[in-house]
Amino acid sequence: MGKEDNSKSLNFIEEIIEHDLKTDKHDGKVLTRFPPEPNGYLHIGHAKSICLNFGLAEKYNGKCNLRFDDTNPLTEEVEYVESIKEDIRWLGFDWEDREYYASDYFDQLYEWAVKIIKKGFAYVDESSADKVAATRGTPTRAGEESPYKNRSVEENLDLFERMKNGEFPDGSKVLRAKIDMASPNMHMRDPVIYRIKHASHHRSGDKWCIYPMYDWAHGQSDYIEGITHSLCTLEFEVHRPLYDWCLDHILDDPEGYRPRQYEFARLNLNYTVMSKRMLLSLVKDAYVNGWDDPRMPTISGLRRRGYTPESIKNFAERVGVAKRENVIDIGLLEYCLREDLNKKAQRILGVINPLKAVIENYPEDKTEELDAVNNPEDESMGTRKIPFSRVLYIEKDDFMEDPPKKFFRLSPGREVRLRYAYFIKCKDVIRSKDGEITELTCTYDPASKGGQSPDGRKVKGTLHWVSAAHAVKAEIRLYDRLFNTEDPYDFEEGRDFTSNLNPDSLKTVTGYIEPFIKDSKAGDKFQFERLGYFCIDPDSAKDKHVINRTVTLKDTWAKISERQG
Ligand code: ATP
Ligand code: MG
Repeated sequence: MGKEDNSKSLNFIEEIIEHDLKTDKHDGKVLTRFPPEPNGYLHIGHAKSICLNFGLAEKYNGKCNLRFDDTNPLTEEVEYVESIKEDIRWLGFDWEDREYYASDYFDQLYEWAVKIIKKGFAYVDESSADKVAATRGTPTRAGEESPYKNRSVEENLDLFERMKNGEFPDGSKVLRAKIDMASPNMHMRDPVIYRIKHASHHRSGDKWCIYPMYDWAHGQSDYIEGITHSLCTLEFEVHRPLYDWCLDHILDDPEGYRPRQYEFARLNLNYTVMSKRMLLSLVKDAYVNGWDDPRMPTISGLRRRGYTPESIKNFAERVGVAKRENVIDIGLLEYCLREDLNKKAQRILGVINPLKAVIENYPEDKTEELDAVNNPEDESMGTRKIPFSRVLYIEKDDFMEDPPKKFFRLSPGREVRLRYAYFIKCKDVIRSKDGEITELTCTYDPASKGGQSPDGRKVKGTLHWVSAAHAVKAEIRLYDRLFNTEDPYDFEEGRDFTSNLNPDSLKTVTGYIEPFIKDSKAGDKFQFERLGYFCIDPDSAKDKHVINRTVTLKDTWAKISERQG
């Protein structure tokens, strides 16, 4: 595998790593980390970061840590920790025993804060949060010095300790790094590094009532773990000087080992939101049925929808790693899925919009077992038997009473092939009182068994079907895009992103599936011939079949990429 990869051009992070390996920078070691904050479920953007961090470790014979960035007790929950672990494992990555938590470093982070206070590089500020924000200045105008900036070291040490001891209410004081209120980089204008929060933490319980900010935790955590390449998304580029400043001020030997931060472009997908705040509100306000709703871009949603780990990893590979923001067409994700399922998925016949068709000249009490191919892409998957009898269901859309020229499927007097079965001809149409077509009367040609032409005569259409007496009734959930607009973040004034939701993103119908599906279990995937890929939903029970449509067969992306050469 290594050989093959090397022939491909390297992305900029691989170039950096290979250079570091050549110059023996970290004794030839590569240690990355994936640092989720356990305040929501992981989404497809996180999957990209997971594939990148674990993928680089695999490629360069290194390791990747899982680190929970759990510095905010108010938004974090054990449920999220568990879901994150499940999702990473499902993608096929293993952090072995390297499961870390920023909260495990709270003691060390506190000591380091004391250390920089002693060196005169941090102070306790009693200004209100509003005041701190108002005096930060603007990118072109310097901020104002806090009146508390020049307290003595002793006073700062005393106040910080009393903050830790719980003597002060939330929001009454913060610890700020003493850097430069005139820095062109707003993040360097005496950033807050500790705040008071009288809140229980899901791991440290009530031990702490002060919590470090991201910037005071991340680089230090990287340092503690011995991370060599700390990869994050572009919005952290402006944090990098602070990341380095923190290390500069806590390390005894600033020339020795230290982690480095590198930024790459986050994954953006059209028709999709990835903001955790928005995803949370979709769940909380019940626009979807939970984090793993198959319409959600979460890893658990994609899994329930029928995505495979391979399709997601492949997608991440194809998207690549860039330094500039871009938006990826969701069609590419679907393309990667079809490509994978096409190779793997069991074919099956199922009808999702049934129309009864009675084969008049077929004996009433007869059933035949016909041979069907399980996957034309993979002979080793073999064949199966499907029952055929007098009363069938075909797809409503496959019949037209008064068809236009180019319609080659069933219509009165027209002959078509039933896949793996027989040629049939439509004789008659039966209607309900209100004029709706409820049933077709057909005849079959017994000489066309297996769908073979008995005399060289041709039929233009081949339809899927099921035997009504044998088929399994199922609740089929047909999904469409969750959002109507390419850019769901763009909404009209006075409204919010939910105004871009697609009201028809879920449609539930009753379908009939060939009996093969009876023994399937949640997560099993099928191609319903001519209709798309489908996946058994965990809502299924012994006598209840619930099936998600994963994706339709039509592949718009292939056409787009072909056109673009
Ligand atoms: P927030 O910090 O606002 O809660 P987040 O999306 O940054 O949200 P984290 O849990 O902090 O969530 O992210 C964990 C890791 O995943 C980070 O390294 C982050 O940069 C990366 N990541 C998040 N979103 C994307 C994305 N869309 N594409 C690539 N990487 C992402
Ligand atoms: Mg984050």
